[in-house]
Amino acid sequence: MSAIADNLQAVKMRIQRATEAAGRLSDEVRLLAVSKTWPLVSVLDASAAGQLAFGENYVQEGVDKAIATVDLNLEWHFIGPLQSNKTRLVAEHFSWVHSLERLKIAERLSAQRPAHLPPLQVCVQVNVSGEASKSGCAPAETAALCHAIAALPRLQLRGLMAIPEASDDPQAQRAPFRQLRAIYNELQASGLPLDTLSMGMSHDLEAAVAEGATIVRIGTAIFGERNYA
Ligand SMILES: *Cc1c(COP(=O)(O)O)cnc(C)c1O
Repeated sequence: MSAIADNLQAVKMRIQRATEAAGRLSDEVRLLAVSKTWPLVSVLDASAAGQLAFGENYVQEGVDKAIATVDLNLEWHFIGPLQSNKTRLVAEHFSWVHSLERLKIAERLSAQRPAHLPPLQVCVQVNVSGEASKSGCAPAETAALCHAIAALPRLQLRGLMAIPEASDDPQAQRAPFRQLRAIYNELQASGLPLDTLSMGMSHDLEAAVAEGATIVRIGTAIFGERNYA
């Protein structure tokens, strides 16, 4: 087996153990392989090991990989910051966007989603406490944004996403995930049919699964340390 296949297996074991510890079923948590900065051959390697869903942060890099793998029927998720001049490429080449934080971007994606494709599956990124970046919608503004996005014809709102700051303390890791889930539960109670909590990365997937993650976004633990040089 390749190193990537070994790593995928190890990550799946971590997810299985975390779901068992939380009294959840392991198939309640999907694994998104975050392939940003890694070459196409790494994606092919993971695909050969059975991985279907891949996450990318940079539009052109993700589009290039999506086009190169079109025969493999992989599922491409956009998880990075999105500027309005790049929405068309995302609408045309990705199945999911996890990082929506503004209505204007959502409206452009809905208008630009090609008619022959199913609706773009989207999550709203929320700036929970201890957020690693400045991105994401403020918690108090999330409900209004979600209800507006849910009304757009070519988007299907699936849930929420967050990127909390890295912490080594498992209890501290859980707090922002718990906060995201509380917002998610309120939105569900308000009538939005959500089913996705996109939270948890290589260093904190156990904490995220314990707090209800349904998609974990894993890069380093599958592909290795990224080199941005
Ligand atoms: C890079 C990235 C990941 C993967 O992070 P790792 O720590 O490498 O697992 C997940 N989500 C987002 C939004 C990212 O930018």
